[in-house]
Amino acid sequence: MKHSEGQPITQPDGEGNPAEAQETAATETETAPKAGLTRARILGASCLAIAGTLALSAILFKDDNGVWLGEEIDPIIKAAPVIAVAADEEPLPPLVNEVDATFNRGDTMMAVMTRAGVDRVEAHKAIQAMTPLFNPREIKAGQKLSLILEDDPDTGEARLTRLKLKADKTRNIVVTPDGQDGFAGEAVDIPITTELVRSQGVIDSSLYAAAVENDVPLKVLADMINIFSFDVDFQREVQRDDSFQLMFERMADDQGNAVDHGDVLLAEMVLSGEKRRFYRYEDKNGFVDYYDEKGRSVRKALLKTPVDGARISSKYGKRKHPVLGYTKKHSGVDFAAPRGTPIYAAGDGVLEAAGRNGSYGIYIRIRHNDSYKTAYAHMSKLAKGMRKGKRVRQRQVIGYVGTTGRSTGPHLHFEVHKGGRKVNPLGVKLPTGKTLKGKALAAFQQERARIDGLYASLPGSAKVADATPDSQ
Ligand SMILES: [Zn+2]
Repeated sequence: MKHSEGQPITQPDGEGNPAEAQETAATETETAPKAGLTRARILGASCLAIAGTLALSAILFKDDNGVWLGEEIDPIIKAAPVIAVAADEEPLPPLVNEVDATFNRGDTMMAVMTRAGVDRVEAHKAIQAMTPLFNPREIKAGQKLSLILEDDPDTGEARLTRLKLKADKTRNIVVTPDGQDGFAGEAVDIPITTELVRSQGVIDSSLYAAAVENDVPLKVLADMINIFSFDVDFQREVQRDDSFQLMFERMADDQGNAVDHGDVLLAEMVLSGEKRRFYRYEDKNGFVDYYDEKGRSVRKALLKTPVDGARISSKYGKRKHPVLGYTKKHSGVDFAAPRGTPIYAAGDGVLEAAGRNGSYGIYIRIRHNDSYKTAYAHMSKLAKGMRKGKRVRQRQVIGYVGTTGRSTGPHLHFEVHKGGRKVNPLGVKLPTGKTLKGKALAAFQQERARIDGLYASLPGSAKVADATPDSQ
């Protein structure tokens, strides 16, 4: 279902004959493209415009206590009164103009306000009232301003009665007359609703394309890649017809625009027919991780690939040495990557060597546990603070790709040592991370059932419109 902006409808109010009231509630719109303004003029008293917004059915809402309301999956009509004009007995009620403007590059607050018909002196006073809350010089192209102007029926002069500026994703600045020939400003928080969104896709050309096509925000895609990075080599293992499923939190403002994305609660990938599903679980110490249905952490003791986006340029095993020319056993895997690409620690551990090491060039070796070590060679430089004895965490940047030592071009030479022997990093069966047991496992299983329930309550075909973050 597509999220759609309802046409504003006018609705008669009070005792009057609805048919008559509708006739007088003439709505006239004119656009001034050069000025970038749209103007809706609403004539007459006793009219109330309602903007109806149809919310997605594939969404759950969090209540004030942070509890997901699983039942509320019916479409929800969000009704927002745009403008309400009080009933007025005068024969000539003021004309109310509501002007919405979007800032273009180079627009100043003064220019946009005067273009909208605000008197220069009034505009200056309103800007002064706004300035302590928002510096008008920091206005950016694309920011939105709405103004309400009332035309004095006698003099025909327009008077500013309300200014609303969307200062950022979470805050509006509202400026109104202070009753003493000036203006007062106020910052108003935009209410943010957290919703759950389900997305899924089948990979045709690339995971990225499938994610974009199915409205998965890039931040969520990055989280998913992170979750699976222990298990999946995204450069090599993801193929056409593989698929993914996700459930994640989406924070929306009062207009239904996504302002941010929260946690991924469920992530599933089906690769070459093999399904892997992981659930977010926070343990009693507040440590968040993703676990499979048996409570096994997605984290492995070692990462499969210690650089992002790299191509394997040379595998482990016998090969003709590119510099020396003779056949020699290659003791690791080479990942070709641009100079300066960050290199991650494949696992938690302690640096056993850090610095120049002959033909290895700038080199690091990490001792992970009694049996495993990893080594990284030909770096352009070490990351800040890397020295022998330093403790590092998995995925911490330890250095950068280079071509120091005996090397023909920028690449990472990566070795895995098991029990003192160099083994094939691509073939080694990596030790697993932690597995939940006892009470922790029971708590996880409860959380997993809850997540599965929420997931099942969202329609599978849900396509989320407006999921792209607001450009402001
Ligand atoms: Zn190598």
